[in-house]
Amino acid sequence: MNLVDTHAHLDAEQLTPQVEAVVARARAAGIRTIITIGTSASSSEQAVALADRLDGIYAAVGIQPNELDTRSIDEWPRIVELARADRVCAIGETGLDAYWDFAPMEYQLAMFDRHLWLALETELPIVIHMRDCGDLMLSVLRVAAERGPLCGVMHSFTGDAGLAERCLELGLHISFAGMVTFKSATDLRETASRIPADRLLLETDSPYLTPHPHRGRRPNEPAMLVHTACCLAEVRDVSVEQLARQTTDNAMRLFGLSGPAEAR
Ligand SMILES: [Zn+2]
Repeated sequence: MNLVDTHAHLDAEQLTPQVEAVVARARAAGIRTIITIGTSASSSEQAVALADRLDGIYAAVGIQPNELDTRSIDEWPRIVELARADRVCAIGETGLDAYWDFAPMEYQLAMFDRHLWLALETELPIVIHMRDCGDLMLSVLRVAAERGPLCGVMHSFTGDAGLAERCLELGLHISFAGMVTFKSATDLRETASRIPADRLLLETDSPYLTPHPHRGRRPNEPAMLVHTACCLAEVRDVSVEQLARQTTDNAMRLFGLSGPAEAR
């Protein structure tokens, strides 16, 4: 199998000390490519350093809405600079979060807009976090789509089928994390079963959201992606090999990745 974990936080303190072993376990489980996602300027720096050092690792750079603080504006030029680095394949994660109130929504909106502009300028896809703010998110994305092509992913999607439909219309991909495997997530699985095959992505969001049957185990790590892949293959009524091939092709295309030759 050849899977891509499109969203992991390898710089997280639960994973960094053992990152070589984490990547080796992922590879043994068939996850040959991992995108490690920055959540702040320093986390984005670490993501780029990890991608430089380790085979099969790419980086995304950005400031996550729950990580925004008063220094974020001053740190923004660092993100812009990092976006040009060799192994950077996306801008993010960014987005809007109305569940937590670590940063005022006005500030989240302003910083999200900077990420959207940067993605457009660098022609890199954008990695979008959204929690409890579907309508607001759609209105922001519609404005962005008028400025130029909108290309990216709604990461760890937990919205309803209607919201997924609107995001697809805007040209975005939809990515599912471990939550889709939880016993209670019947509606989310139903939504996942209806995403067009060429817009579907997989992720772990490690170190969070460990999939069933290991739910609750911490930290989650990229090797666990296999459980999410099997769950989605089942609900979509395809073989796991077919699901792997399709989602890996999608990830390679969206993020412009060149995988290890022997893995193709
Ligand atoms: Zn994340």
